[in-house]
Amino acid sequence: MYYIGGVQVQFPFKPYPSQLGMMNHMIRALNKAQNTMIESPTGSGKSLALLCATLAWKRSHAMKQKQLLANISQIIRKFCKHNKSLIVARYAENWDSAGSAAVEAVGIDSVSGSDIKTKTENGSVDKSKAETVDKSTVVAADKLETSTADHKDSTPEACNAIQKLDGAEKPMTGTSAAFQISKKELVKSSSTPPATVLQERALISRTETVDYILDLAKSKTPDGLTDEDIAILTSYKEAGESVGHKPRIYFGTRTHKQVAQLVDELRRKTPYRLRTAVLGSRAQTCIHNRASKASKNGESVDDACRALLDEDRCAPFQSFRRLIGNKKLSAGGELEIWDLEDIVRLGKAQFACPYYAGREMAETAELVFCPYNYILDPGVREAAGIKLEDNVVILDEAHNIENAARDAGSFEITDQQLSLLAYDCSGMVDVRILIVEHRLVMVLAETLQNWLQGEEIEYEYRDYETQTSVWPKPNVSVDDLLRSLALSSEVIHRLEAAYKAIEAHIKEVRTQKERLNSTPHISSASQRLIEGLLRVLRHVGSDTRFSRDYRIAAIRYPNPELRDTHKRKRHSAVVQPFINTMCFWTMNSGVVFAEIASKARSIVLTSGTLSPLESYASELQIDFGSTLEANHVIDPKRFFAMSVECGPSGTPLEAKYKTTNLLQFQDDMGVAVAEIASKCPDGMLVFAPSYALLGKLSARWEATGHLAAIQEHKEVFFEPQGGSKDDFNDLLNRYRKHLQRDNDVGKPAQRGAVFFAVYRGKASEGIDFTDYYCRTVVNIGIPYPAFKDVKVVLKREYNDSRSYTTAVDGGALQSSPKQQPLLNGSKWYDIQAFRAINQALGRCLRHKNDWGAIIMLESRFTYPWNIARLSKWVRGHMLIYKSFNDAKHDLNAFYDFRIKEDFVSEEATEDNASVVDLTLN
Ligand code: SF4
Repeated sequence: MYYIGGVQVQFPFKPYPSQLGMMNHMIRALNKAQNTMIESPTGSGKSLALLCATLAWKRSHAMKQKQLLANISQIIRKFCKHNKSLIVARYAENWDSAGSAAVEAVGIDSVSGSDIKTKTENGSVDKSKAETVDKSTVVAADKLETSTADHKDSTPEACNAIQKLDGAEKPMTGTSAAFQISKKELVKSSSTPPATVLQERALISRTETVDYILDLAKSKTPDGLTDEDIAILTSYKEAGESVGHKPRIYFGTRTHKQVAQLVDELRRKTPYRLRTAVLGSRAQTCIHNRASKASKNGESVDDACRALLDEDRCAPFQSFRRLIGNKKLSAGGELEIWDLEDIVRLGKAQFACPYYAGREMAETAELVFCPYNYILDPGVREAAGIKLEDNVVILDEAHNIENAARDAGSFEITDQQLSLLAYDCSGMVDVRILIVEHRLVMVLAETLQNWLQGEEIEYEYRDYETQTSVWPKPNVSVDDLLRSLALSSEVIHRLEAAYKAIEAHIKEVRTQKERLNSTPHISSASQRLIEGLLRVLRHVGSDTRFSRDYRIAAIRYPNPELRDTHKRKRHSAVVQPFINTMCFWTMNSGVVFAEIASKARSIVLTSGTLSPLESYASELQIDFGSTLEANHVIDPKRFFAMSVECGPSGTPLEAKYKTTNLLQFQDDMGVAVAEIASKCPDGMLVFAPSYALLGKLSARWEATGHLAAIQEHKEVFFEPQGGSKDDFNDLLNRYRKHLQRDNDVGKPAQRGAVFFAVYRGKASEGIDFTDYYCRTVVNIGIPYPAFKDVKVVLKREYNDSRSYTTAVDGGALQSSPKQQPLLNGSKWYDIQAFRAINQALGRCLRHKNDWGAIIMLESRFTYPWNIARLSKWVRGHMLIYKSFNDAKHDLNAFYDFRIKEDFVSEEATEDNASVVDLTLN
């Protein structure tokens, strides 16, 4: 147990200083309800440290809240005791209008916990009346709920008073029964409220009474209270509605594999036990015999599932709640903290759907794990039932969050999808269901489809086959384009209203008992398309905060089915010559983050490679109250970082497009890599900026014999471009297998292995190359994003228009005063490249006792401004060499030293082992 930031944290190991720093930083940020960024190198035990700190804070926060509520009750009682006349005058005066009258008017039958239902005479919920309910009644319910959960905060008097009000003849049983308030009795007692009842009323009307006392305190501290009491009441008032709320923790990571690792660590290594849920995709959790195998037929599991549900044909869905009630998953059960694999196993055994069970469990869980797009994507977030209000959002491995957020705020739709949407809606018109509404959507889909397939769009070729057209253009704004497509603000509003009616219809049909005979409705796929379109049109089509942050593009490329003669024969229907796509791209990650930040209590971004941190604050358009760059846990003696200006024969190692075509460059690079491979023990990673460059180098090296020189010392593996995840994993396993040591002997493999990969590729992120799986990372070039990529071009232009300089000159920012200025386009472009490099560097050195070399075969890393863009743990240790031959000498000395150290420590381990063995004998 460690006392960090005023909170008791249970941590399974003695924390490193950097972990202590992170936990302290995290707890402080959560206490202040701040957003924060924490950069800490991979392998520094960041995720577990942050999770433990968060759970410890959650517990401590709940206790503080409980204490605060108890203190408030006590202060109110004190106030009532010493100011009887005031309290009687106040509540007797308001009793009729604010108390009984409101209760009478809205027809409350009873109030129990937070389950307040406001009903009209015919029994339906009347929201307008609900909003006029006396605040005190709501607060009373809050009080009751708190009391139910926490008897320390409820007094016997309060319970008795409420029981008296209820006038129950029979003794009440159970906590909820004890807090039933009868309308009749409330009204009866309204005419002559006794002082004691009014005092209790003051206690129950907590917020109102606190306001009243604080008002009185403006002129004089009320009798019986102290300045400290007033300070407590003030802090309660300032905390507003969040008092009493128990923040849920959403922990988002990049992939499900990382979720699984964290859940495993939480379960095995920590004592924290709380209601936990894991959100995964249907592809990971579906147990339906056919739907789960949909991908084998080229379909998505999502669509297969939705189709089954539309027709009410999934038996595991009918029984998913059975899974929720399973004892193994409840408090104290063996799977109290479960992972997707656990729930899928259990779902199979019970023939109950794990996907829907997991979603429902997440609604009441205290800790929810999910891939981070579940939080970023508004559509997925809503479908998954994620509620951000006043909760904590942690996004781990958040180095790509800026791009992921832009993707989540964007939307693309093809002409084929538009055609299906129009067809679906016309079916509804034919059967005369919500005719106006479905027709409106149908006309929209047809209009967009005709426009995409027509000849009006002036395309330009951006690459060999793809034609693109982007708005705004010099003489056509986005508004002009939308108007030409009849998408005025008014039409978009009508579409919103139409979709609401369609959505309500679908919901109603889905809840009908006799599903098989139910009324028709549009498919789930069509529903998703309308939602996606409206989500972007809401921003693009009206003068909103983000209306200037979108670009619209039309993209046309040849239909791949045309090349597939087999498919063409199979589908006798005419195959369209082109695929046409309409794209709504946001250039601003803030479109997504502004909404998250407005709801969540705190957003925490963590990664090994966030720097430069300030660019995140501007790109995401949210305020980060604090940031932390933690140190690496690895002793600098355990790694060797160097950059080299020239190759073995003196060729400058500058991997720009032109120079990489020079044979001299390719040959010198080949010699350098072969020399490093000859000395580096075990595994080695080489990263290049593109598959094209990797291909160029390998072809040349094969011809010159450099590849054979590398193969003399290492088995060679190349990361393939494209291909399936399974194929990649297979390749990676072969690499690992080759390096695996014989456990009995502990000797390295005869030859090591080298894995050639690309930055931003599969090998560069999220994969551990611990210990002998990687003793050296060689970096070739600087991986700038594709310069001519249309999205990159647009983003650079956009940042220029919103950069600090433009803001000062009174540029585009004048129309968006709420938005922060951005880094200019070229700075943004640079940062993308350096983040990718920092990610690749982090593949090696995964724990405190790991060791390795970081080698930049790139002359631009001899410049201090480029070194400054590397992660903190590397930048201070980078040695610069003019020639490869000088560098080689020091590098070899490092390898020799580490190999010797390894040998000594292995011997020591063996000696210790034999001592233990002897003792045991
Ligand atoms: S409801 Fe569940 S089991 Fe049924 S198809 Fe969908 S994901 Fe699969």
